[in-house]
Amino acid sequence: MKVLIAQKCGFCHGVRNAIRVANQTLEDEHDVYCLGPIIHNKDMVDQLSQNGLKTVSTADEILSGTVLIRSHGAAPKQIAKLKEKGLNIIDATCVLVKRVQHIASEFEKEGYKAVIIGEEDHPEVKAVVGCAKDVIVITEESDIDKLPKHTKLGIVCQTTQSPEHFGKMLGAIGQCDFSELKVINTLCNEAIKRQESAVELCKQVDIMFVLGGLESANTKRLAELCKTVNQQTYHLQNWKELDKTLISGKITAGVTAGASTPDWIIDEFVNNLEKM
Ligand code: SF4
Repeated sequence: MKVLIAQKCGFCHGVRNAIRVANQTLEDEHDVYCLGPIIHNKDMVDQLSQNGLKTVSTADEILSGTVLIRSHGAAPKQIAKLKEKGLNIIDATCVLVKRVQHIASEFEKEGYKAVIIGEEDHPEVKAVVGCAKDVIVITEESDIDKLPKHTKLGIVCQTTQSPEHFGKMLGAIGQCDFSELKVINTLCNEAIKRQESAVELCKQVDIMFVLGGLESANTKRLAELCKTVNQQTYHLQNWKELDKTLISGKITAGVTAGASTPDWIIDEFVNNLEKM
């Protein structure tokens, strides 16, 4: 089978840094914990777990040792709680995620009601919500009613949303009854480049595979965008998940991967697909 790979896919600098920090910490320290999966990729998390990283869901589960703050960040209150326990904190939050947190807290100081466009349950968004009092999360246009009237609104966006969605939401917010609007573009360029090259590639192929964690926001976004252009788009975590009947009769396949998908997952998938 002919396999084409998206020009930009796989690890971004934020994820690469988080994995580097995790590996270094595992070499230097014993008893290393991560509050939630360090990145949204089960294969990578399993590999780090084999090297000793313990992933827990709450700070209460950690009594001693070192805690890694994952690439999606953590709310200041959560970090303070860990510090109170005397734990050693290593921060692997992506700098672009840190920027969103900083902007939300600055909005509050400047008298704006901070609003983030994103997924309420996503850890990045939850951490931003924890950076200022009463941050409003809006996901779809139907959430616009949540915005208070006659207020100064400060808008940011979850880093991995698409520019199209950001633009659509800004259009809807623009029709609201606000007194002042301040918008800061917090979209991640790495995510945008992956979206653009995925969409470009899926126009040229019979079938498109998007590789990455099922919880990964940026991978899900890639799959959603590709699906709008090529109905034959499939989001898989790795080669083992491929239903081989899908490629029957297909000549050219495209492969892309989210920013949290390690190279070995992409290489294994492409090598096996080429042999089909
Ligand atoms: S996708 Fe962008 S914001 Fe998210 S970790 Fe990577 S570089 Fe950071």
